Amino acid sequence: MSSPERTASASVSPMLSPRRMVKSGLCIGCGTCMAESGDGAAMHLDRYGQLKPDRSHSTAGFAELCPFSPHARSEDQIALARFGSARFYDSRIGRFEAAYVGHVLEGSFRVDGSSGGMASWTAAELLRRKLVDAVAHVVPREGDGERLFHYQLSRTAEDLRKGAKSRYHPVELSGVVAEMKRHPGRYAVVGIPCFIKALHLLSLQDRVLRERLAFTLGLFCGHMKSTRFVESFAWQMGTDMNAVAGVDYRLKDPRRPANWYTAHLRLKDGSTRSKDWWHLVDGDWGAGFFQNSACNFCDDVVAETADISFGDAWVEPYSSDGLGTNVVIVRSPLLQALVAGAVKEGRLELREVDSDF
Ligand SMILES: Cc1cc2nc3c(=O)[nH]c(=O)nc-3n(C[C@H](O)[C@H](O)[C@H](O)COP(=O)(O)OP(=O)(O)OC[C@H]3O[C@@H](n4cnc5c(N)ncnc54)[C@H](O)[C@@H]3O)c2cc1C
Repeated sequence: MSSPERTASASVSPMLSPRRMVKSGLCIGCGTCMAESGDGAAMHLDRYGQLKPDRSHSTAGFAELCPFSPHARSEDQIALARFGSARFYDSRIGRFEAAYVGHVLEGSFRVDGSSGGMASWTAAELLRRKLVDAVAHVVPREGDGERLFHYQLSRTAEDLRKGAKSRYHPVELSGVVAEMKRHPGRYAVVGIPCFIKALHLLSLQDRVLRERLAFTLGLFCGHMKSTRFVESFAWQMGTDMNAVAGVDYRLKDPRRPANWYTAHLRLKDGSTRSKDWWHLVDGDWGAGFFQNSACNFCDDVVAETADISFGDAWVEPYSSDGLGTNVVIVRSPLLQALVAGAVKEGRLELREVDSDF
């Protein structure tokens, strides 16, 4: 999302508020503008099931902080500053050191993950090598209500494992960012492209976060959904949202192609419901049901500002492999060495690919 206009306007420092961003439909609900408030209380679900900030709140530097603000640095500008000497550049996916297709061989990462398990493996490897003290990622949330998932700081491999899998559900960063600022340490954060961009924008303004944010792990993203997506699943499976205790958007079945998604609901009475996505009216991902409107204005599919990013390999023969396969784009030279080393040790099965792949 770079343009000469954006670059020129970045110096204006305009009066842009959360209220105006919400009204314009450009608020993704990432919560970085509410990080100062500390506990996520300033983020609430609106009537469409999208997370939005407390509109009365005003944040210093908001115009340069919000990832969808026309006055913030673009993905291209952030990536240029972070990965200026990267080996490769492609206008579609930005700067990178290497790109791969494959999956994790060791442990249960592949079986546990939505794709090939590389996102959780990388997070666990950062912890194992003590390159970070904790990883911020998304886990199921205990308790009642429509917010079925939330960001959590995990400090052990076991806690990380509980977060494996993709959650197409509103989550926000304000609580974990506040925690990272309260407790000294080095942190990695897993997030969709606009969340990773928001963290880098916040780091530009916040010295403490800048020192502590050691690695950003991006997830490829087609768009973000509202809570209504699960609600709609529930209705179509003969129940309603109040009965839902948890959701697995993509139940893994090694006997079926990876792209034959099955939605699986766990109900509060202990029973379960499942249905293949193609039998659900909103099961066509590309149709964009319950999409956050801000996603209409984003062209960063592969988290161009992250140190490493992970997606699904929707290319044959990989789409037919029910165990799941990742596409991985590595931008940080340190992570590139770590990944290449693990391939040599036989812990990862990865084949290098080009940007066309
Ligand atoms: C909203 C969304 C849209 C996506 N759209 C696409 C797409 O169009 N095309 C594509 O190729 N890939 C897409 N992905 C990425 C894909 O679904 C997988 O997450 C990715 O391939 C990594 O798989 P894995 O097996 O390596 O990860 P896993 O080992 O399963 O680990 C996933 C990690 O991501 C964290 N996580 C899960 N959900 C979220 C979330 N909402 N926000 C932040 N962290 C989260 C988990 O806590 C865990 O740490 C999307 C992901 C999300 C969350």
